[in-house]
Amino acid sequence: MRHFAVVGSGPAGFYTAEALEKAYGGADSAGARIDILDRYPVPYGLIRFGVAPDHQSLKAVSKRYDKVAENAGVDFIGNVTVGRDVSVAELLELYDAVILATGAPHDRKLGIRGEDLPGVIGSAEFVGWYNGHPEFADLDPPLAGSHAAVVGAGNVALDCARILSKTRHEFEGSDIVGHALDALDRSAIRTVTILGRRGPHQVAMTPKELGELGHLEAAVPEVEPADFPPVEADEALDPGLRKSVTLLRGFADLERNKPKRIVFDFFAKPVAIEGDGRAERIIVERTLLDDSGAARGTGETYAVPAPLIITAIGYSTSPIADVPFEGGKFVNQNGRIGDRLFAVGWARRGPTGTIGTNRPDGYEVADQVAAALPPGSSDNRPGAEGLKPLLEQRGVMPTDYDDWRKIEETETGRARPGSPREKFVRHQDWLQAIGR
Ligand code: NAP
Repeated sequence: MRHFAVVGSGPAGFYTAEALEKAYGGADSAGARIDILDRYPVPYGLIRFGVAPDHQSLKAVSKRYDKVAENAGVDFIGNVTVGRDVSVAELLELYDAVILATGAPHDRKLGIRGEDLPGVIGSAEFVGWYNGHPEFADLDPPLAGSHAAVVGAGNVALDCARILSKTRHEFEGSDIVGHALDALDRSAIRTVTILGRRGPHQVAMTPKELGELGHLEAAVPEVEPADFPPVEADEALDPGLRKSVTLLRGFADLERNKPKRIVFDFFAKPVAIEGDGRAERIIVERTLLDDSGAARGTGETYAVPAPLIITAIGYSTSPIADVPFEGGKFVNQNGRIGDRLFAVGWARRGPTGTIGTNRPDGYEVADQVAAALPPGSSDNRPGAEGLKPLLEQRGVMPTDYDDWRKIEETETGRARPGSPREKFVRHQDWLQAIGR
């Protein structure tokens, strides 16, 4: 019998567990036990805390992960922080292989003057706030001004701009947490400016997500036609990007007949954030693309007023003691970090791709594990039977999948009418729901 520890219960962790389970014995799971560890008492990582609450069809992928967790060979072990409660070296003693699927929960920094002023918020924090992440429940983003700026031309920037612009009515059926729904309902923001340091041909926004902006109840997207190259140039783009650019071009023709605006400001590179004790404006420099396609400043600057500035410029992984780390992710070769230690998902390749991208990633790493530790062999490591007493000695009380089901049932039971759940946003509330 082999024992595997998958650290992190987001998409990468669950696809890896699914692949390991298939590689080592299928339905009866005779060949391996797979433990999916998470620092929170609840599973699903990005699905719960990152995917937008008004994108319930994307969140529904967790049903597939439920099937994995319900498998006899797979256990969820929540409320355990690897690197604090147990080290990677200890896990490697207890398990045949350890796969780090810890995602990329930290915001990259702009590295400009004024970035630390109150009112400047990373997208991980803002998204965590409206998605009920316990670390950001008290974020209280400034929503009393009429303007907000979102830095970045990717899908997370779109999520943030859309959430800031929706009406209460448009959140029906979503699982946005109550505190965020009420605060957004009171928000005075009327203009959200999306700042892209390059142009429409360089956006990282996908068509479905862009298309949503054209159908909002109270907001209209705006673009400046002069920012676009001649329409013939779109022919050379990949089909997905071409669709996005076509949608963006179409925004120029929309009637501006709604109270809120989402303004796309392209070729605008942030150079400073200014304000008297808190953010009041972001200073941007006009750019041109150089021959390599990079944004080069022209020296022309202007101010965009914004007491709320959200940076949505990408994420990095949390380092873990004794695991080589560089450029915001674990140092690895095709997922292999070292002997019996692997990385998968965003912890392996950085924060790119869709949820589905993690599936082949997980299967590839599982193949490598199976090649190094052929099914049928064993080194008699104890797995959870060794981990659990160690955690108990350290006063750590893990949660299991049944605990999660109880938490889920309680969250479902306290949902607003029409909403799938009202998430707990405090660690102690999760534990209270399971009688701790
Ligand atoms: P992303 O797609 O990498 O976009 C990051 C954006 O930030 C880019 O436009 C980038 O511009 C810009 N940027 C980076 N550094 C900057 C700087 N110093 N100053 C100004 N702009 C800067 O990242 P993301 O939006 O965080 O998304 C992460 C991944 O999750 C992506 O794969 C995304 O598609 C996925 N996602 C998907 C969905 C969905 O499917 N509904 C929703 C959310 C996220 P440059 O191109 O110039 O570098």
